[in-house]
Amino acid sequence: MLPNLLTDARIRAAYAEGAGIYRIVPSAVAIPRDVDELAALVRWAAATRTPLVPRGAGSGMPGGNVGSGVVVDLTRGFPQLALDPERRLARAGASVTWAALNDASRPYGLRLPPDPSSGAFATSGGMVATNAAGPRSVRYGSVRRWVEAVEVVEADGTVRTVRRGAGSGERFALTADSRRLIAERFPRTRKNSSGYALDRFAESGDELDLLVGSEGTLAIVTAVHWRLDPIPADLAGAALGFSDLGALGEAVPFLVSLNPSALELLDASFLRLIPNAPLHAVLLLIEFERETAAAARGVVGDAVRGLKHQVVHVETALDRAGLDRLWEVRRLASPALARLPTTQRSLQVIEDGCVPLERLGEYIAGLRAAAERRGVPVAIFGHAGDGHVHVNALPDTTSSGWRAALERLFADGTDLLVRLGGVPAGEHGVGRLRAGLLERVYGAEVMALFRAVKHAYDPLSILNPGVIIPAADWTPLAALKVGEGAAPIPDDIATRLRDIERNAAWGTPKAALATPNP
Ligand SMILES: Cc1cc2nc3c(=O)[nH]c(=O)nc-3n(C[C@H](O)[C@H](O)[C@H](O)COP(=O)(O)OP(=O)(O)OC[C@H]3O[C@@H](n4cnc5c(N)ncnc54)[C@H](O)[C@@H]3O)c2cc1C
Repeated sequence: MLPNLLTDARIRAAYAEGAGIYRIVPSAVAIPRDVDELAALVRWAAATRTPLVPRGAGSGMPGGNVGSGVVVDLTRGFPQLALDPERRLARAGASVTWAALNDASRPYGLRLPPDPSSGAFATSGGMVATNAAGPRSVRYGSVRRWVEAVEVVEADGTVRTVRRGAGSGERFALTADSRRLIAERFPRTRKNSSGYALDRFAESGDELDLLVGSEGTLAIVTAVHWRLDPIPADLAGAALGFSDLGALGEAVPFLVSLNPSALELLDASFLRLIPNAPLHAVLLLIEFERETAAAARGVVGDAVRGLKHQVVHVETALDRAGLDRLWEVRRLASPALARLPTTQRSLQVIEDGCVPLERLGEYIAGLRAAAERRGVPVAIFGHAGDGHVHVNALPDTTSSGWRAALERLFADGTDLLVRLGGVPAGEHGVGRLRAGLLERVYGAEVMALFRAVKHAYDPLSILNPGVIIPAADWTPLAALKVGEGAAPIPDDIATRLRDIERNAAWGTPKAALATPNP
């Protein structure tokens, strides 16, 4: 049975924004209650050529979760979670969050190792669709490595399970020439959520690798079979301050060689926003998970000794509580950004670039210089061990020319990434924002392969059109949620969406926003 299509203006407004920069009011919202309703909806969309925008919590940054078609809210209908601790597997419906999965796995000493900071609300469907990652991905990779199978509804309404090891399927195959092209053109970064993972598909021969990271453009995920891992017994870590970015060139590869479970970076541009934070050019936070306390402490000693001539600040933590205290500075980012003056908005336009590890210092220096040149303050932080940093651009949106400055910063950031052999998304995906950049990053021939993948899975282009494959009129910094020209929505809903953004409260049911406050 087809789910209700909700067309009330207030409901549509409640789904007009996700995290990130856009406000696009959808034509309708559907909240399917199960796979059958979703399949019926997709068949209807195919028959009527109606674009669908699959959506989880809406915490994705680059605009894959908003659009002018029918937004399909997948946070309600797919809550089932079944664990098989013996085989270290879990089957989670698309609505199940990272936190719920890990809460259920913890009593068995198990967990899903990649740990997005948004785990409290990011859904299983959203994480697979973006190939999400987190601080621990330096050791455990992105979620791709932990997906055993996905249940999907395809663009014609067929329901199917695609498993690891089951081969490339019937829809899309690579020729020997395209394999050579992929080997040549895919950048050598440790993480990548920028377009279809043809490199991984070529390597594994598994269709699953095309679906992971496909951002709702090839199929809609209704369940994920996760592989779980034992929680290591012990951990220890350190905070290491450096007085200049140049030190990263040696320090980061050295620390990565010690096999950390997290290696995070806070740039001076970020530290200045945090009250009482140590003010260094860069602060690295490192965590080592090991099987014994002695091993964890030993490797912290190795790290500190190995860098003693470069660091200007060292604090170590030899247990979980101490480590939590050291990492507090990292967790204060969201509250600090929430305290910015109301005129200064955090706009994520170049927020997810990933470069080869040895180019990280150069990338950050280039970002700082571009921000200075364009007069847009930024806060830079991220996953040093993967050569991957997030950038929050913080323009004063009441100043004249802020929009043009942001556009120039976007262009500068792209030039820099291309020059350094990087990718525009390490873990957040391409969305609408970066769709038009892919051709520059990979070249026209790989882009043609991306289009062929899209056509093979979604020939009518009803699944998230404009995401990954750019719309003909791609204008990345149009349809902003800020400033003149933002689509009009009721004030109370705009305020509540802003509160969600400031407090990272993406778990809030969006349909509830449509009910007027008493
Ligand atoms: C404060 C904050 C911190 C964050 N930290 C991290 C982090 O550490 N690591 C990280 O990787 N990301 C992070 N993110 C980004 C975001 O949380 C992730 O991209 C997450 O995986 C998105 O999940 P979601 O359920 O919110 O999906 P949405 O935002 O709703 O959707 C994201 C994309 O996935 C598609 N999609 C969603 N569900 C499905 C489905 N069931 N089937 C098919 N396609 C679907 C959508 O169409 C869209 O293209 C952060 C975001 C915020 C706001």
